Amino acid sequence: MLIPSFQVDHTKIVPGIYVSRTDTLGAETVTTYDIRMKHPNIEPAIHPNAMHTIEHVVATFLRNDPVWKDKVVYWGPMGCLTGSYLIMKGAPDPEKDLAPLMIAAFRHLADYEGEIPGATAVNCGNFRLHDLAMAKWEAAEFVKRLESAPSFKYPTVERIKVEGDRTFFDS
Ligand SMILES: [Zn+2]
Repeated sequence: MLIPSFQVDHTKIVPGIYVSRTDTLGAETVTTYDIRMKHPNIEPAIHPNAMHTIEHVVATFLRNDPVWKDKVVYWGPMGCLTGSYLIMKGAPDPEKDLAPLMIAAFRHLADYEGEIPGATAVNCGNFRLHDLAMAKWEAAEFVKRLESAPSFKYPTVERIKVEGDRTFFDS
C-alpha cells in the first residue's frame, strides 16, 4: 500500500460515493469507499441512533443482495457521523456499480416497515440505540441527493503530518 500524499479536503466534500483507498491482499484487490451522506461541518451530521439503524438495515440489505452479497466485505458508520464505509472485493465503479446499489439500499430503508434487523440484546451491542423513523428520513434524503446531484470525485489537499514523521489517518 502506497500512502497517498494527498488527503480529502473535508471542507469541500459534498454527499456522494467515493473511493477512499485500494489495498491488495495477496491476489485480491479490496476497495474502501466513503458513502458520504452529509456535507461535513456544514450540515448537521446524522444522529447516532439513526446511524446505528442505517448500519443494521443497509448491512442486511447489502449482504442479501443477489448480485453483490459475495463482494461485500464490510459496511459500517464513520465516526464523524457524516456517512458510512463500504469495503468491497475487487474494484466496483462508484458511479456505474455502486450508485444504483446505494440507491436501492437506501430506498429499501426509506420504505422500511417492521422490526429493525438484529436490534436485540443477543445480536447487538446497544440495541436501544436505534431510531428507525429518523433513519428512514435520512435515507430518503440521501436517495434524493444520489438521484439529483451525485458526486464521485473527492476534493483533495496535501496530507498533513502529526508528531514529526507520523502521518494522520482517519480510518
Ligand atoms: Zn447494533
